[in-house]
Amino acid sequence: MTLKIGVIGTGMIGRDHTRRIQQVLAGAEVVALSDVNAASAEAVRKDLAPNAKLYDTGEALIAAPEVQAVLVTSWGATHEPYVLAAIAAGKPVFCEKPLATTAEGARRIVDAEVKFGRRLVQVGFMRRYDAGYVALKHAVENHTGAPILVHAAHRNPAVPEAYLTPMAIHDTMIHEIDVFRWLLNDDYVSARVLYPRNAARSHTKLRDPQVVVLETQKGVLINVEIFVNCAYGYDIQCEVVGEEGTAKLPEPMTVDMRLGAKRQSTILTDWKDRFVASYDVELNHFIAAASKGGATGPSAWDGFAAAVTSDACVLAQESNGQAVAIELPARPSLYN
Ligand code: NAP
Repeated sequence: MTLKIGVIGTGMIGRDHTRRIQQVLAGAEVVALSDVNAASAEAVRKDLAPNAKLYDTGEALIAAPEVQAVLVTSWGATHEPYVLAAIAAGKPVFCEKPLATTAEGARRIVDAEVKFGRRLVQVGFMRRYDAGYVALKHAVENHTGAPILVHAAHRNPAVPEAYLTPMAIHDTMIHEIDVFRWLLNDDYVSARVLYPRNAARSHTKLRDPQVVVLETQKGVLINVEIFVNCAYGYDIQCEVVGEEGTAKLPEPMTVDMRLGAKRQSTILTDWKDRFVASYDVELNHFIAAASKGGATGPSAWDGFAAAVTSDACVLAQESNGQAVAIELPARPSLYN
């Protein structure tokens, strides 16, 4: 069976996921496209999915009889209504992060899915499908003993002028927030944010770098350096310290060169290259589960937990180093 997918939002990631479905992965085809920018949807149709039908609105695409599953890759603030409409239509839906722009919005999606009675939503937290993180989780669960500390860094070479302090959480650290809950099988209880002096490449509306310290229910301390003007490359680091030893996220594969009395290896500069394979795997999982009418992987509950944690981290950014509590309500049994 070929799963018939409709894509809402044909910007950078919507186009890339359409390419994946049409040219890389098996088992699905893009049969419908929609974007407020009709020219963008038409360009993606022409370049990648010539048989797809164009819809004026995301709602019309979701309601279309030929659409069996939906990809929501539009601007973040539009995610909640589209995901709610897909749930109401009983169609599996892959939603890029954020699931919603507020914790309340994400909770409305959780409630709608619980009421529907079956998982339909997968959130685009692709790091869970990265081969390095999967290997790290195996090491943490089988070899290094109960985790005590996590040291992590998320570094970008540069960001646009419009990138402000809270975006370090919402746009950048959101991936760490999700992946550490999954890696440690744990939930957060508090967040603190500490700032060194501002880096010279930053500006007055961006505190950069910053260090977020998360504490978990099991007593693990996680420190995440976010440095979005680090200049040298896109670099994701993570080391877990356990009772018996430590485990480190593997570096991306690179050729080790010896040239002119120097050892050299390349550091990536673009996040798309760093996680390209994990996007393929996450969509493969979506296609497999949606073909059976359901969803697996990062859930609406995980999207909600990430939203609650991000809100606490943003509050902590303005709390002079004081801890901000992170509280989640009881998890519905649908997500056990
Ligand atoms: P983008 O290039 O700006 O594309 C978003 C597209 O959605 C634009 O074509 C935009 O049209 C369109 N749009 C806006 N409102 C819409 C609506 N109501 N209905 C349908 N289409 C609408 O952004 P992007 O970089 O692809 O990001 C899209 C989403 O994916 C964001 O939520 C982002 O956080 C997420 N994302 C996730 C990852 C990841 O690592 N998982 C990576 C990149 C992006 P206009 O241009 O006319 O506004």
